[in-house]
Amino acid sequence: MRFTMACPHCGSRGIARALEKVSDVEYLIDFQCDEVTCSHAYRTRVQMEPPELPIPKRPRRATSEFDFDR
Ligand SMILES: [Zn+2]
Repeated sequence: MRFTMACPHCGSRGIARALEKVSDVEYLIDFQCDEVTCSHAYRTRVQMEPPELPIPKRPRRATSEFDFDR
């Protein structure tokens, strides 16, 4: 699934281009407007709620990239 969010300038869809992990429960996601004449790029902050997992932590996996186009 492609992760999209409306562009705040023109209302067209913005497409997630990059994911940056801040912590286990916080990510920064960069979007770029799909409208060629706009192409506005914007960053969003995603925080998970609740912030703590109810189960014990498992060893962290070495994944730093997320494929939004899948
Ligand atoms: Zn736009």
